[in-house]
Amino acid sequence: MKYGFVTYDDINNRLDKLVNSKTVNKVRKKTPIAYSPCGFPINLYEIGNGDKHFVIMSGTHGTEIIGPDLVIQMIEFFANNSDINLENITLDFIPLQNPEGFIVVTESIKPYMKDLTADEFEKISHDYWDNYRLDDRRYIIINELLKSLGDEDTDDFWNIYRCKNIDKHQLWEFCLNRFNITKEQLLEKWKIANVDSLFSSNVLMVGNRYKVFGKINYEMLPEKDERYQKLKSKIKTIMDSDYDGYKFPSESLIDWRCNSNGVDLNRNCPEVLNLKLKEIEKKSVLFGNYRFNNLRREIPGPQGVASVNLDNFTFEPENRGLLLHLQKLAKNKKYLGCISYHGTGAVIYCHPLRLEKSFNENKAIRIDSINELYADIYSSVTGYSKVDYPDKITGTGDMIRNLIPGFLIVELSRMGGNPLSPYGDKNGNYKSIIIDNIKAIIKLIDFLSSLEKNKIKE
Ligand SMILES: [Zn+2]
Repeated sequence: MKYGFVTYDDINNRLDKLVNSKTVNKVRKKTPIAYSPCGFPINLYEIGNGDKHFVIMSGTHGTEIIGPDLVIQMIEFFANNSDINLENITLDFIPLQNPEGFIVVTESIKPYMKDLTADEFEKISHDYWDNYRLDDRRYIIINELLKSLGDEDTDDFWNIYRCKNIDKHQLWEFCLNRFNITKEQLLEKWKIANVDSLFSSNVLMVGNRYKVFGKINYEMLPEKDERYQKLKSKIKTIMDSDYDGYKFPSESLIDWRCNSNGVDLNRNCPEVLNLKLKEIEKKSVLFGNYRFNNLRREIPGPQGVASVNLDNFTFEPENRGLLLHLQKLAKNKKYLGCISYHGTGAVIYCHPLRLEKSFNENKAIRIDSINELYADIYSSVTGYSKVDYPDKITGTGDMIRNLIPGFLIVELSRMGGNPLSPYGDKNGNYKSIIIDNIKAIIKLIDFLSSLEKNKIKE
């Protein structure tokens, strides 16, 4: 890897090489499940000879670049390892569900990573992790202070400062002017919230995580062919849009979760759109939380929307392709399950909606027991914990989980902060992501494979 992380070209080159070589287990390139809005294929690869398929995918969110990195290494591992028995099972790999978002993020950071040694790349990733957490603390600690002084809603403060550096004295004066308190009372709350820990100098920056890079903007996106030109032009339109004086910070290209339509594929489902419309009704201008407090949401952009048209829901082509692929397998009784890898958190989303809210209790119980079994096998190797039952559908994962069994979302890195934090500790965090998750998949595949073998014997 030239840059320390995988790029779109790396992924295609490594996969082409595998498809064209005689590996122990043959890698077959299939017809793409879909094409992105700018025409990039959503590629599908198969390994194994079984009738039943298990799907392994990643790259739903552009900025979560650790997922495709892992899946490429998984494909290489399964292709070259003779110990793995794939007679009774076929693995379907979709390494990059959202090539557009992935290209936006990786092309934006490439120029700053190209001449680094492995150690320098690790260091910059670690610095990124520190700064990412500082951005979170900026939001958490200041909110804590304002709430302790009596603000239930802290928007008045953030409406002034969310896109600005904060001077320590300005914050002090803001509090004195806003709340009916003495300096001594403020100092007490200030100390309890540990506000001074935010200020290594008198000024606290907005978007600390961006400062490990130079000046990032969409001009860096390549124009190799028509697809790239279209992508660049669509990103330019979004980034140049002015919403009553608000513009996305140009560096927020590294936070890009969405495709070029500015749609978050994980929230691209009707139930989420309805939830978001209710939020928009209450507050017309919405921003992200924590480190994304400087980014508007529910408009096309890095944080994105649930549907291109808010009045008329549509699935994005990347999701339509995935849903059709999964449903086709399920309809033909060839489907065993699917794991979708996301960036950070070290958790597994496996449960369908709470049973008492389920439309079909028997189906929900069946789905739950299968998912629980898969998640337990997975967790026994990785140590990732299972996320509790959701009360409502908050993402495409929840939606799919209520339709078919065996659909798990695995959040990878214990070091939070896409795109770079997973790389901030090569021998600890990064290696364990790759090794543990490949081991966990092997264990799960072995289990499923032996079930299939016994069925065939019967
Ligand atoms: Zn994600």
